[in-house]
Amino acid sequence: MNLLKSFMPELDGPLKNRRAACALRTCRATQLMRSLPGSRPGVRVGTDWYCSVDCFAEAARTQLESLCSRRVVEITRHPRLSLGLILLSKNYLTSEQLRVATAQSQSFDEDIDETLVSLGMVTERQLAAARSAQWGYPMLAPGSVGQIVEADIPKTILNACRAVPLHYSSTARRIVLGFSSRVEHRCLEVIEETTRCRVEPCIVTPTDFEEQMERVATPPHYEEIVIGDPGSPEAMARTVGRIAVQVAAREATFASYRNLVLARVTGKRGVADIVFCLQCRTAAEIGEQSGIFKEAIAV
Ligand SMILES: [Zn+2]
Repeated sequence: MNLLKSFMPELDGPLKNRRAACALRTCRATQLMRSLPGSRPGVRVGTDWYCSVDCFAEAARTQLESLCSRRVVEITRHPRLSLGLILLSKNYLTSEQLRVATAQSQSFDEDIDETLVSLGMVTERQLAAARSAQWGYPMLAPGSVGQIVEADIPKTILNACRAVPLHYSSTARRIVLGFSSRVEHRCLEVIEETTRCRVEPCIVTPTDFEEQMERVATPPHYEEIVIGDPGSPEAMARTVGRIAVQVAAREATFASYRNLVLARVTGKRGVADIVFCLQCRTAAEIGEQSGIFKEAIAV
C-alpha cells in the first residue's frame, strides 16, 4: 500500500473522499479497490455507492429487512366531504336511497360505491364525478381513454391501488395516472420515487380502469418480476443480487407499498422491478389493511 501510494500520489485525493468509497462498512475489497468508482462502476443507491454487486446485495439485505418489518401504517387521508354528501348535493341520490344503500353495504360488508352501482342508484360516471369533487382532482373526459401507454410501472402496484397510466412522457418526466377508487398518496409517492416522474392524478371509472389496463404496454428492456413467496430478507437480497448481475446494475431504489416491497435495479442491460409480495402475518394486519381502504361515507 505504501509502495502504491508513493507511485500514485494522485490517488490520495479519492482515497480520502469518503463519498467515493464503498458504503458497506464491512466491505472486503481492498482500500484501493473500494475507493475507485472509476475503475469499476459499482451500484448506486441514493447517495451511497457500493463497489460490487456483493456489497450492494449485502446492503440490500438491511434495507429489505427494515421495509419488511415496517408495519403497514398508512396515513389515511380522509377527504373533507364524504362521497354520500357529495352525491346528495349533486342530486344524484336521495337521502332515503343513501340510507338504504348504507344499510345494505354494512350488512353485506361491501364498499358503499359498489352497493350504489349494483342497486342502480348511481352510475359509474356519477360516482367518478363525485370522487373528483371529493379529492379535488379532474375527472377524465369520456372517450379520452384508448391510447396504448408504455409504462415502466409494476402492474402489481397499479392493480393494488386501482390506478392506471393514461399518459407517460419519459422526456417530460410526467405521468397522468387515473384512479378508479380513492387517490392514495403513498401510491403516488412510490411511483414518483421509482420512475422519477411527476405523477398527476385524475379520476376514472372502474370500466375505464379495466379497459386502460389492457392498453398498458411494457417498454423494451423493462421487466417486472413478481415474487410471491419471497422468504427471508436474506433470500430477497440474494434475488435482488442475482437480478442486479443480469441487468449489469448501476443503480437501485427500494420502496414499499402496503404488503408489497419493490426493488428497482437499473443497469446497462435494462431495468427490472422486483416486486416481493409479503404475506400478511396476522389476522389483525389483514383487517387493518382491508379496513384502511373502506370509504368513509357517514353523513
Ligand atoms: Zn465494497
